[in-house]
Amino acid sequence: PPRAAVVVTGTEVLTGRVTDRNGPFLAERLRQLGVDVGRVVVVGDRRDDLASALSYLLDEHDLVITSGGLGPTADDLTVEVVAAVQGRVVRHDEALEQRIRDRVAGIVRRRGWSTPTAVLEVGTRKQAMVPEGAHVLEPVGTAPGVVVTPASGEGTPVVVLPGPPGELQPMWAAAEADDLVRAVLDRGREIRQGTVRIWGPPEAELAALLRDLQEETGSPLDEQGLEITTCLRKGELEVVTRYAPAASPAYERLVAALHDRFGDQVFADDARSVDDVVAEALLARGETVATAESCTAGMLAARFADRPGSSAYLLGGLVTYANQAKVDLAGVPQQLLDSVGAVSAEVAEAMAVGARERVGSTYGIGVTGVAGPDGGTAGKPVGLVHVCLAGPSGTRPVELHLGGPRDEIRLRTTIAALHLLRR
Ligand code: ATP
Ligand code: MG
Repeated sequence: PPRAAVVVTGTEVLTGRVTDRNGPFLAERLRQLGVDVGRVVVVGDRRDDLASALSYLLDEHDLVITSGGLGPTADDLTVEVVAAVQGRVVRHDEALEQRIRDRVAGIVRRRGWSTPTAVLEVGTRKQAMVPEGAHVLEPVGTAPGVVVTPASGEGTPVVVLPGPPGELQPMWAAAEADDLVRAVLDRGREIRQGTVRIWGPPEAELAALLRDLQEETGSPLDEQGLEITTCLRKGELEVVTRYAPAASPAYERLVAALHDRFGDQVFADDARSVDDVVAEALLARGETVATAESCTAGMLAARFADRPGSSAYLLGGLVTYANQAKVDLAGVPQQLLDSVGAVSAEVAEAMAVGARERVGSTYGIGVTGVAGPDGGTAGKPVGLVHVCLAGPSGTRPVELHLGGPRDEIRLRTTIAALHLLRR
């Protein structure tokens, strides 16, 4: 398969003030297209660093993509540097400048700025400078992208994209249709990728299964054409496999073995997340959900609401943080709180039942736990969480023992609650 590299530019990304979203987006998209991503490199807004990164990446890859540094200011120098590295002179494109000018005028009008035209013109002119022979990618914001091949003819194209993710993503979609880029991507189309997601088991169990499979089939899985990478993320085990069409039977064998071993712990054998799976199940059955949350204080309800269309199944949520709120809002009996305490299976159940009855949903979910870092006791340590699902056929409790800092405990609780609803 073809190999690609990504250069993320920007001192703000290098220093961590802005978290890189473009490297991961491009790497994932290229993977889906069957392209091997060899490197994602971050460089600051420095001419020499960018030039040297580009020079060595161009030698070893079939496609290089840059993000950032296309703006109107002096620290935006990507086009210039890419042109120099590819041996191209930069020329002014009059028609492009007019299109940029129109876009800038539109933005200035919408924002109500009173910036003098002469001030804007400096940046507009700069953004209309294009390497000779480059293909222009039309601006999404004000900056055009370019696809630049070496002046010498044959060689690796560089796709230059703007930094803001809202601009980069649609422009990359346009770049995929560019004939210089397509020529590279076409060589990767054969490669397939499958993702299986599993909830619960440790990575070691997966490793054991892969060893068993290898023994049964008599040859290493990579020799059967399967390139497998695994990743454990917040309790969800992700198995990503890349393979050529000829290795499809080996891949089918792997998927069957995963289902065999892990049963309903396997929650997706495509790219779907647990959120997708839960939403689709609720929608298909016309069912609804309500939450009563203590330690997650609304995170679970918010997680449902992250999905467009969630109003079809998320009816509401109660944030019952204090004991009095558990009594008043979710109808938890005061004597239950007095006898077993707020962090208990009994109270989680009463919260779930209360949410279901008071909101009038098919399911209610109750969440109560010790998120820490303080407040743990010997009997109820930090990380102890009770989640309960109440539905038409009764209640289902889960007790979690989570580690890590407060935000990790709350996030993992939210994910565990989604998995409880899925099953
Ligand atoms: P602009 O015209 O906005 O200057 P640009 O192409 O020059 O576009 P940059 O100056 O590199 O882009 O970045 C502009 C802003 O876009 C950054 O301040 C940051 O908020 C966001 N951004 C840039 N690169 C990334 C990235 N890799 N991940 C997430 N956000 C980014
Ligand atoms: Mg900029």
